Amino acid sequence: MMNIFIFNYIVIISISGVFSVLLGILAFLKRSRVKGSGTFILINITSCFYVFGHAFELTGTSLSEIEWMVKIQYLGLPFISPLNVLLALQFIGLDKYITRKNMILLFSVPVITVIMIYTNSIHHLFYKSIILHKEDSYLLADYKIGIFYIIHGSFTFGCLFAAFCILIWHARRVKSSYRFQLAAMMSALLLPMTASFLYLVGKAPYNMDPVPTIMCLTSALYLTAILSSNMLVVAPIARDRIIENMRDAVLVMDKANLIADFNGAAIKMFPELNNSIIGKEFYGVWGNMLPNAVLPEVLSGDSASFEQEIEWNRNGELSYGLLHSFPVYKNANQLAGRAVIISDMTKEKIMRNTLQQMAYRDSLTNIFNRGYFTEKTAEMIETCKISNMPLSLILFDIDHFKQINDTYGHAIGDEAIKHVINISKKFIKPEYILARYGGEEFVISLSGVSIEEAGGIAEETRKKIAECPLITDGKIIHITASFGAAEMSNHQNLNSLFHDADQALYESKKRGRNTVSIRPAALYI
Ligand code: GH3
Ligand code: MG
Ligand code: MG
Repeated sequence: MMNIFIFNYIVIISISGVFSVLLGILAFLKRSRVKGSGTFILINITSCFYVFGHAFELTGTSLSEIEWMVKIQYLGLPFISPLNVLLALQFIGLDKYITRKNMILLFSVPVITVIMIYTNSIHHLFYKSIILHKEDSYLLADYKIGIFYIIHGSFTFGCLFAAFCILIWHARRVKSSYRFQLAAMMSALLLPMTASFLYLVGKAPYNMDPVPTIMCLTSALYLTAILSSNMLVVAPIARDRIIENMRDAVLVMDKANLIADFNGAAIKMFPELNNSIIGKEFYGVWGNMLPNAVLPEVLSGDSASFEQEIEWNRNGELSYGLLHSFPVYKNANQLAGRAVIISDMTKEKIMRNTLQQMAYRDSLTNIFNRGYFTEKTAEMIETCKISNMPLSLILFDIDHFKQINDTYGHAIGDEAIKHVINISKKFIKPEYILARYGGEEFVISLSGVSIEEAGGIAEETRKKIAECPLITDGKIIHITASFGAAEMSNHQNLNSLFHDADQALYESKKRGRNTVSIRPAALYI
């Protein structure tokens, strides 16, 4: 009776082994399409060592043969359950935990187990003893387990349990359409867990280890889950991956504004972020993270989505971002929390500023251009009128510039323009606007400055230009400029003020150049 049972048992586990091999081959053929197939193939290879080793152990005819078969089984057995943890992690897209360090930790126990099995005859910590007894024509082994067997057993069971918990935890986040694969994965884990439990408590039929017989079922369930998940599970995984790999920082808060999650880009953007902030209140974290940043009015309690430009200062460098906050719903109208997405706009902002600068500046001298001058001076005139402040305009033009061009060439003409501007800049306070109005004609608007003061500034500038010739290419080029200044009266606008200054400049040209004229005409110097 026992004879037949053992024979059947050997046949079943051999079939189970062959079936595992076939499933492994199938997974291998589909490996490029299916996530986790590498791990699945490894599970099958390790299972084969275990299953066939076990089958051969039962056919062993001597203690040393049986011992060798045990050693072969253990080349696979200890690795199966940690590989299940790995597969579960891959299955639900928690790849970020599959790090080198974690893998070394996970697989160190199985490696030690293998070493312990191979050195058991020295220390007897795995099996205290192996006693053979005969069942009909079969030689069966009774193992007296040692301390390390218990460690290995607990670890194996713990891993299966951990894999199961990972899947259960994931079940909450999974849409109902993915539940089938999840159920298949869970059953695949529950089968060996239940079988080994029954065996350990002595409830297995004929006290034979049922695990090897069901390994093929586990494999089949896994493969079903993996293959059918090919399309479906990729969706939630992809979603996780996309968020993780996004260039934008993503922070997720629960209803109480406690931080629940954040992605890799958030850490890159804000290196202060780490796992310890999970569960902390958003505003507190924000304040610590970016003490100089404008606080977003993100979480105003209502559920509207919200966009806001933010800026922050790190190590003296200003960064700009666009913050988008929106509510996240569990279902139709049950608010789960909020997501905040921050796009780093620093490059764009700098580019925009540069373009704006370029639009406002003259390319030869880098002082403001006529457009900027007109816009800003018109604003300044209004401000000065309201606050009853004086405002003056100085217009100046290089004398006989045509001659400079004709004598020395256009390039030296350009240098002469830059030279005159470099001298003029020394007399310009930050609140004044110096601009190139046209060719070799320049304008300065001076808010809060009376015509007497403006005349003084013009005179100082004129003197300095006349005193400092341009020295270039071994040549000394004397340059002079003529100035006209005017002060705004109450009824004036930019046009009429400019006209007055132009008239004054014209006066200077007429009076022989290299001089300053001011308007009102009564105040000529
Ligand atoms: P005046 O004393 O009456 O102002 O005599 P002028 O020769 O300076 O007067 P005019 O306005 O007739 O000549 C200005 C010349 O400046 C004409 C133009 O060729 C030259 N010019 C205008 N823009 C530039 C420039 O960007 N670079 C150079 N090199 N020359 C320029
Ligand atoms: Mg000129
Ligand atoms: Mg001119």
